[in-house]
Amino acid sequence: MDTMLQTCATVRGPLRRPYDVEAIRQQFPVLHQPARGRALVYLDNAATTQKPRAVIDRLQCYYLCENANIHRGVYALSQRATDCFENARRRIAHYINAPDPRQVILTRGTTESINLVASSLGRLILRPGDEILITWMEHHSNIVPWQLICQQTGAVLRVAPINDRGELPLEEFGRLLSDRTRIVSLAHLSNSLGTINPVRQIAAMAHQRGAVVVVDGAQWVAHRKTDVQDLDVDFYAFSGHKLYGPTGVGVLYGRAELLERMPPYQGGGDMISSVTFEKTTYNELPHKFEAGTPNIAGAIGLGTAVDWIEEIGLDAIAAHEEELYDHATQVLGAVPGLRLIGTAAQRASVLSFVLEHIHPHDIGTVLDSEGLAIRTGHHCCQPVMERFGVPATARVSLACYNTTAEIDALGAALGNVIRMFA
Ligand code: PMP
Repeated sequence: MDTMLQTCATVRGPLRRPYDVEAIRQQFPVLHQPARGRALVYLDNAATTQKPRAVIDRLQCYYLCENANIHRGVYALSQRATDCFENARRRIAHYINAPDPRQVILTRGTTESINLVASSLGRLILRPGDEILITWMEHHSNIVPWQLICQQTGAVLRVAPINDRGELPLEEFGRLLSDRTRIVSLAHLSNSLGTINPVRQIAAMAHQRGAVVVVDGAQWVAHRKTDVQDLDVDFYAFSGHKLYGPTGVGVLYGRAELLERMPPYQGGGDMISSVTFEKTTYNELPHKFEAGTPNIAGAIGLGTAVDWIEEIGLDAIAAHEEELYDHATQVLGAVPGLRLIGTAAQRASVLSFVLEHIHPHDIGTVLDSEGLAIRTGHHCCQPVMERFGVPATARVSLACYNTTAEIDALGAALGNVIRMFA
């Protein structure tokens, strides 16, 4: 047991300065296996990131030494599990600069976080004829929950257009804001185009009209610093698994006054203060929104993931990824017949493209045969595909462990695709 506890204490990764991508790669066991007989080149990080040893060890450690249900037990093991869980919440709050850990609701992921706001805030504030404004570049997770609450409340969904570069023109966005706009919800970084939206500016515009601002940060949080106070947004949603953390855990940050007023999203254990058949009173924040046994190990693993990122430094990661992004833009630009879908002035991490006369699925299949993992399809953004008149795109998405050599391998493999289909 002592050895196990020691393992628990030493799960954090070593400090790496200056940026040493090889040392970082060494911390990701999954990257060191062959794929189709070649070295694996993992470029599907927008779908999910790989996990560093620190996170994997932390999950194992939890189950080896700390597993108990939380918030209920009077015994030591339960108190220890509760401490680890609540400590993870504090670290996550710190990561996004939330003023108070009570404003960090632990959910299953971005999708559940947005459904929580749509359902709970929607029931609180939406009346027939009220408007919800989203953008054309949203992931289905930031479209469908709003459609559902519109159906239930009589509110109307409005969609702000994007231009041919995949940017959100603010003038047109501003024209769609009205005194009926109650909620504005948009992605911080688009998973299908790579566009970075000027969230701070949009939040200020929406607040002037009295609207609540919800941000889908699924693609942002692993790449650039997130400061929910500086952005001055009301809600911010993200997933652990795109942030080097486990699947099945995510976050909804919310403004305290709104969270206090909102009705519970789900009913069950832990979210109550007292229950009788006549009347139930609800627990305080954040527990009011965390019905049932949560993903305890997942939350603790996410706490370790954000520690791990902070040890390397998000600025260092961002600088490395920017270099890679520029290199990838050049490499893809040199591929004959390749068209980038998404050329916004401000973009990061994601490069979507099509090749003349070759279906994206064929690109993905040939690349896979050479050990390269990229995503092809609509990326849960069917309206974006419609907007750009393509059935699907091939998408390369970067993470802290990718290298220029991997981007060169991508370029060479795309050359083979073209030769094969010529
Ligand atoms: N929004 C965006 C922008 C995404 O990229 C994703 C994941 N592809 C989601 C929402 C949904 O995330 P999850 O499946 O982890 O809930």
